[in-house]
Amino acid sequence: MREELRALWERTLAELRNAGTEEELLEIRTRCLGRKGLLTGLLRNVGTVPPEERPEFGRECNEVKEDLSARIDELLAELAAAKREEVLLGERLDVTLPGRGVRHGRLHPVTQVKEEICRIFSGLGFSVVEGPEVELDYYNFEALNIPKDHPAREMQDTFYIEDDIVLRTHTSPVQVRIMEKVRPPVRVLSPGRVYRRDSDVSHTPMFHQIEGLLVDRGITFGDLKGVLTVFLKQVFGEDTALRFRPSFFPFTEPSAEVDIRCVMCGGRGCRVCGQSGWLEILGSGMVDPEVFRNVGYDAEEFTGFAFGLGLERIAMLKFGISDIRLFFDNEMRFLEQF
Ligand SMILES: [Zn+2]
Repeated sequence: MREELRALWERTLAELRNAGTEEELLEIRTRCLGRKGLLTGLLRNVGTVPPEERPEFGRECNEVKEDLSARIDELLAELAAAKREEVLLGERLDVTLPGRGVRHGRLHPVTQVKEEICRIFSGLGFSVVEGPEVELDYYNFEALNIPKDHPAREMQDTFYIEDDIVLRTHTSPVQVRIMEKVRPPVRVLSPGRVYRRDSDVSHTPMFHQIEGLLVDRGITFGDLKGVLTVFLKQVFGEDTALRFRPSFFPFTEPSAEVDIRCVMCGGRGCRVCGQSGWLEILGSGMVDPEVFRNVGYDAEEFTGFAFGLGLERIAMLKFGISDIRLFFDNEMRFLEQF
């Protein structure tokens, strides 16, 4: 028995020297020292050892067991340490590498133009107001002097949600909503999305308008000209030439369209201005007394003017963009230029 014990010990030491992985070490531990292991088997057969040698044999068995157990633990610890070292080496930080840059966002060109216009009019005492995009037919048409059978309704191809609910075709309904709530003086600017059934290089089904309204005692067409002149010169430059052309809108009387000298050709005539040398920029006019009556203002006491313009059109002229659809493609290479 004692020879068997010695042979098992030496054989196991040799196996441990050759073992290279955690699995091998664990396997050896189970095979020798486990509950059904070889060493446990020897101890169980202690009865075959002469009685006087039994204590000595038991002691030797325990020594071998402790020795092997300690060696295996040590080898396992070494393996674990080596593994940790390897992981650490693989994960080592190179602090000299350049950092990853943070991508800066930019304001959309339409937003930039909107904010610029709001800033200019804030300086003239206007405040910014907003209204719903899903609008009642009444506010979008009726209250603005565009009854159901009015030919002006054909000027705008409307998205109807229900018979009397539309996607607003202009920002003008906000004027009505404000005048219903506030007594003059009124100086408001309302930017926002509007919708029309239209799509080509200069039209998209959704686009942005900005609308202005000023109502007070004694407001004249001269005030309209003065305010819009200051505004357009701030947007397009002090040297910008303007002209006011008579026009028609159902909710203003008289009405005028405002042109600026073409910013592309300086008035010589080009493709953008259709060789005319002038660019249509906005629609405007003195608020029709009928609109005042609809909101309960006394048209004898108060007068006012309103104007509206398309933000995409201003952005296209300011930044030299030829296709309105580029604004809504969300193409980074386009947006990063502004
Ligand atoms: Zn031109």
